[in-house]
Amino acid sequence: MDIRKLVKKEVSDLKAYNAKGIPCRIKLDANESPFGFADAVKRIAGIKTNRYPDPEAKALKRLIAKDLEVKPENILFGNGSDELIYYLITTFGGPVSYPVPTFAMYGIIGQALGEKKIEIPLDKDFDLDVDRFLTVIAREKPGLLFLSSPNNPTGNCFSTDRILKIIEASQGIIVVDEAYQPFSGEAGMLPLLKDYRNLVIMRTLSKIGLAALRVGFMIADPEIINEVNKVRLPFNLNSFSQAVAAAALKQKKEFRISVETIVSERERLLEEMEMIEGITPFPSEANFILFRMEDPDFIYAALLKKGILVRNVKDAVKGCLRVTAGTPKENTAFLKALKEIARCFAQER
Ligand SMILES: *Cc1c(COP(=O)(O)O)cnc(C)c1O
Repeated sequence: MDIRKLVKKEVSDLKAYNAKGIPCRIKLDANESPFGFADAVKRIAGIKTNRYPDPEAKALKRLIAKDLEVKPENILFGNGSDELIYYLITTFGGPVSYPVPTFAMYGIIGQALGEKKIEIPLDKDFDLDVDRFLTVIAREKPGLLFLSSPNNPTGNCFSTDRILKIIEASQGIIVVDEAYQPFSGEAGMLPLLKDYRNLVIMRTLSKIGLAALRVGFMIADPEIINEVNKVRLPFNLNSFSQAVAAAALKQKKEFRISVETIVSERERLLEEMEMIEGITPFPSEANFILFRMEDPDFIYAALLKKGILVRNVKDAVKGCLRVTAGTPKENTAFLKALKEIARCFAQER
């Protein structure tokens, strides 16, 4: 029996998201935080393993609502924000539109769910091409538009006035994916939520030290939350994740220091990479830096040979790799290795 023939065409045509673990000494490929919250894990011994988790994650929801100054009714959790992308597309349908290059899951999930995908190239500064968005909105009426700001893998925020033009023109739902907002110097869209009923903001704990838990959430009008909640699997957030996340989020000072450290390390990476011949880093509002060079495959392999794993994103952005800000020590090791490799590369030519 040919199983492939039994699979829906949209799924059989897909390539799985590449998340396999490559062995390395210094892991700077997945935009994780180098700082974890081991103490929080120790504080959850009381969990009842025989009971289902709280389906609404009420305690965690209250905590996050208070932090963000929104109501608990404005929040819905996903098992990572990846799951929320599934739920949003299931709820609202397509066409699904997003700028490229961007986070791969909008396209993968859109296709898996059989929706039409409309990809709109960013302009030369990696900002939104408003005219093309407006044309697509008028012609194709996308059910959902996904804007990652700060954008992965380019690192920049899209201009607020361009995002607003797109929200105002759209008849569908606009999702601003703010996975990297904690590292950004810009305000983000949360203050504008009350002005636009079709705006959804997505956040995650994954990039700020809790990737292992799989906790993402969306913030939106309660009517949107109620509709998406109909397709949510009842116990999507397990008891351990709820409890560890709540315990960790109470460590406000640790969070603040870890984010501040990552931001200052990101700026150091940028400055030092700017001085390496043959390397062009792009400024970033996130916890990673995109950088361009003549032969990304060579540099990628040479870094890995020294035990340093970065992400090869040359298929999405020509000539580019992406490095996550690690601990100061890890970043120093990365910079030293990159300098050596770049020097060799220059000499060989
Ligand atoms: C990492 C990332 C996510 C995924 O977050 P999870 O909560 O871990 O699923 C979502 N959006 C963007 C832009 C990301 O880079």
